[in-house]
Amino acid sequence: MNNYPIVIDDAWFTVSQIDQETFAISEYGHWEKVHSYLLIGKNKAALIDTGLGIDQMKRMTDQLTDLPIIVLTTHVHADHIGSHGQFDEIYVHEAEEDWLVNGIQKLSIEQIRKDIGRDITRPVPDTFDPSTYKPYQGQPTGLLHDGDVIDLGDRSLTVYHTPGHSPGHIALFDVRRGFLFTGDLLYDETPIYAFYPTTDPEDLVNSLERISQLAGVNKIFGGHNTIGLEPDLLEEVREAVRQLRERDVIRHGTGIHSFAGFRVQF
Ligand SMILES: [Zn+2]
Ligand SMILES: [Zn+2]
Repeated sequence: MNNYPIVIDDAWFTVSQIDQETFAISEYGHWEKVHSYLLIGKNKAALIDTGLGIDQMKRMTDQLTDLPIIVLTTHVHADHIGSHGQFDEIYVHEAEEDWLVNGIQKLSIEQIRKDIGRDITRPVPDTFDPSTYKPYQGQPTGLLHDGDVIDLGDRSLTVYHTPGHSPGHIALFDVRRGFLFTGDLLYDETPIYAFYPTTDPEDLVNSLERISQLAGVNKIFGGHNTIGLEPDLLEEVREAVRQLRERDVIRHGTGIHSFAGFRVQF
C-alpha cells in the first residue's frame, strides 16, 4: 500500500516522502485511506486536498515547509476538503465553486456523517464528533480552469478538468517530474465512484481517456489506497475505456466493472 519511506507517523496522519520536495499525507486510521499531497516549490508549496477533517492537517504541513501554502482542491467532497478552513489560499475548479461556498449538492449530511464516522481504527482527537461533523464551506481565493499552469517557483503544475466523479474534478500534472495527481478519477483497490446522482459515467470515461493519453507520466498519485501507481496503469485505462464503450455499459446502474489494476462503479 505504501512504496515510500514514512518520515512522520503522527497519532492520526502518516507522512510519506515521495522525493525531497514531495510528500503524501495519509489518513490510514479511516476506511477510505485518503491521501493529500504537499508539493514544495521554490516560492510556494501546493497542498493537493486537505483530507477528512477528522484531525487538523496544518499541524503536518507546518512540520514540512515554511513556505506559503496554496490549497488546490481536486474536488469538493467531504473527504478532500476537511482542513480547508486552516489555510488562507484555496483554489477550486470553477464548476465546483458553488459546492465549496453553498455545500455539496445531493449528498445528505446524514450520509456524510455516517461515512466519516465509521470503521475508524486509530484514536481521533476530542474535537472530532461525527454526529455534528460538517464539511467545510467557504469562499475560494480563486478559481481553476482547464489548462491553467500553477507556478510554485521552479516547479509548475498543469490543471486538467476531469469531470465525471464530480462536475469540477481536476487532475494535476507535475510535468517535469512526471507526477500525475488524479484525486478520485483514478486509484486502485476500491471502485472509482460514478454512481451518485451528481456523477456522470460518460464524463468519467472521457476524463479517464484523456489522462491516459498524457505523455511523460512516471507515477500516478490517487486520492485513496496505494500511493504511487506505475504508469503502465494508463495502458490498462485505455483498454478499459475501449471495453466499456464496446459493451455499452457507460451509464448509471450497470454496476462495478473490473479491470487489471482498477475498478469503476456506475
Ligand atoms: Zn470524491
Ligand atoms: Zn475521495
